[in-house]
Amino acid sequence: MRKSFVIIGLGRFGGSVCRTLVESDQEVLAIDSCEDRVNEYMNIATHAVVANAQDETTLRSLGLRNFDHVIIAIGEDIQASILVTLMAKEMGVPRITAKAQNEYHARVLEKVGADFVVHPERDMGVRIAHKLTSNTMLDFIELSEDYSLAEVKVTAKKFFNQTIEGVNFRRHYNLTIVAIRRGKHELIVSPPANQMILEDDVLLVVGNNQDVDFLDNQMN
Ligand code: ATP
Repeated sequence: MRKSFVIIGLGRFGGSVCRTLVESDQEVLAIDSCEDRVNEYMNIATHAVVANAQDETTLRSLGLRNFDHVIIAIGEDIQASILVTLMAKEMGVPRITAKAQNEYHARVLEKVGADFVVHPERDMGVRIAHKLTSNTMLDFIELSEDYSLAEVKVTAKKFFNQTIEGVNFRRHYNLTIVAIRRGKHELIVSPPANQMILEDDVLLVVGNNQDVDFLDNQMN
């Protein structure tokens, strides 16, 4: 379904979100106070506007609250990012995502109304570090402080040709298998309990970080 987005701030992060949303056929209004940046996105975004997002009248006249999702991708000017998040919340924007520079900034953004806070450098650092320290963990995405989604490759014999219920997966590992990737093309979404696990399958699991690490250790 086509949704409408506003992206405020067209730096590397905001710009990449903008391009990706447009590629997936979403409606995007791009806003930046820098004219050169806006010119760069004139032919990419559905609409691109030069505006200072700290000006409430401007935000209202752009009809911010009529969009499904506002992404605040202002980086260095922390004060501006907080103020714009607060104003978007007060205008009744249904969903707000904001980019944080550090942990304190992230906490304030959550307090003033951001539904989702991203911290790209930190999040990518955590993700890469997990990949680097394990041979079987192919990817790792933090969902919250304690929970994550991870891709774990099946390399331990005790899992080969066993069903999910056969290895008592939920009880022994306390994780949910949301999908199994098999070979290059096959994806078994929400596998049933009698689904067979094969050597070199990739399990997409959701659960507590400690449980994810435990499963990963079992594969080594
Ligand atoms: P990135 O890491 O994504 O490149 P950054 O963290 O370096 O970004 P900035 O370059 O500080 O972030 O800001 C991103 C964009 O936000 C810039 O293009 C800047 O012009 C724009 N911006 C900053 N303040 C405002 C504002 N008040 N209104 C509109 N746009 C703004």
